[in-house]
Amino acid sequence: MLQIYNTLSRQKEYFRPLHEGRVGMYVCGPTVYGDAHLGHARPAITFDLLFRYLQFLGYKVRYVRNITDVGHLEHDADEGEDKIAKKARLEQLEPMEVVQYYTNRYHHDMEALNVLPPSIEPHASGHIIEQIAFVQRILDHGYAYISNGSVYMDVEKYAKDFPYGKLSGRNLEDIVTDTRELDGQDEKKHSYDFALWKKAAPEHIMHWPSPWSEGFPGWHMECSTMGTKYLGEEFDIHGGGMDLMFPHHEAEIAQSCAALGHETVHYWMHNNMITIAGKKMGKSYNNFITLEQFFKGEHPLLTKPFSPMTIRFFILMAHYRSTVDFSSEALEAAEKGFARLQEAYARLLKLQPSDKTSGEIEEIRILRTKCQEAMDDDLNSPIVLQALFDSARVINTIHDQKASISSEDLDELRKVWKDYAIDILGLKLEENDADDNKLKAFNTAVDLLLDIRLDAKRNKDWATSDKIRNNLTELGFQIKDTKDGYEWTL
Ligand code: ZN
Repeated sequence: MLQIYNTLSRQKEYFRPLHEGRVGMYVCGPTVYGDAHLGHARPAITFDLLFRYLQFLGYKVRYVRNITDVGHLEHDADEGEDKIAKKARLEQLEPMEVVQYYTNRYHHDMEALNVLPPSIEPHASGHIIEQIAFVQRILDHGYAYISNGSVYMDVEKYAKDFPYGKLSGRNLEDIVTDTRELDGQDEKKHSYDFALWKKAAPEHIMHWPSPWSEGFPGWHMECSTMGTKYLGEEFDIHGGGMDLMFPHHEAEIAQSCAALGHETVHYWMHNNMITIAGKKMGKSYNNFITLEQFFKGEHPLLTKPFSPMTIRFFILMAHYRSTVDFSSEALEAAEKGFARLQEAYARLLKLQPSDKTSGEIEEIRILRTKCQEAMDDDLNSPIVLQALFDSARVINTIHDQKASISSEDLDELRKVWKDYAIDILGLKLEENDADDNKLKAFNTAVDLLLDIRLDAKRNKDWATSDKIRNNLTELGFQIKDTKDGYEWTL
């Protein structure tokens, strides 16, 4: 039975959905003002793994992953320019052009990583009316106040009735010392109060009418609103990166309790962070590598391009609650490991069954149990991969004819690989193989044409020889006649 680590209780809990056979799951998606990087890949792959496994277990999953396109300010707090609006201003675009452009690119990267699309992908800017209604409920319950056209959460008042800081394990005093003094603080009663609605400054280009001012919602508001709109006032799982735990998710809990009188989420799940060569990712370290730069090998920290599947495999080699350190060397090792897995799978598909399974490899019968136990233990993907590597050794033994396998065991072995490596871990094991085979066929076909041309030349059939040469040249081939025959490049 599936156990997952609940950040709220700080322990693994058996997963019991609210509604039999159905799961509601919400994950904080990207703020779309730049290309996706590794920091986006990790939560996307972590919750893709959960999404895939829940479906494998037979649940009908409604997976909501939002697009943040308004309200995420530069300092991640209540101050600074909106990230989308700033990009739009610098590039002289409509904010929604920025949003569309980077949303398309995000989708493209996610598809390359074999991350399944969510069931619903709502935009914050498409839910302004719902967000205003949510803020109004908090005001009606007395947990917020209006100040100069903006609406702020009254954290002190809230903390008297509900435990504020329970997710991140902070108390109000810690939060007070952590909160920076920022512009506009004078509008708030306390530095730790956060904006539910912000009045737009005259230069602010993204704003909507509201009962309080022409303005825009606070960043935390969108997830409370869209989560409950699509999954109900109580739902099963809320996920995101650990960096979102405070203030974003803590604020979401406070907003839900203040508006609805109770917590919304049953299981809070957080993936750990990524470091690059031991350092935090950040613009100041010049180690902010986008996914596209990984795929193309275009960054000084990379020795070569790495395929999306290498990146996915590398992320899955660590448990989602452990940190992952990226380096070109580590990725090169992952690339080799992934190739071994691909090779074993190709061999598995070609194995011939015998009458019986040799005694020394009977252990492969427990491969499914091993994989399932690992997944049930808080999505322990590295243990699943280890079990698959162990079975790869068995596959190679059979391939080398040092052991035999019955047709029943072979069918089951193929099925376990299909279920766990391909469907659950989401690894594309056949893709490169197929591409390689196509490339081989292409090269052979060109050689064949040039062999025919060589024969034609020897027979002084200049018409055929020229026809082949001219047609290939027109297609962009460069053909060089040599002493022994020919060389070609494209
Ligand atoms: Zn969120």
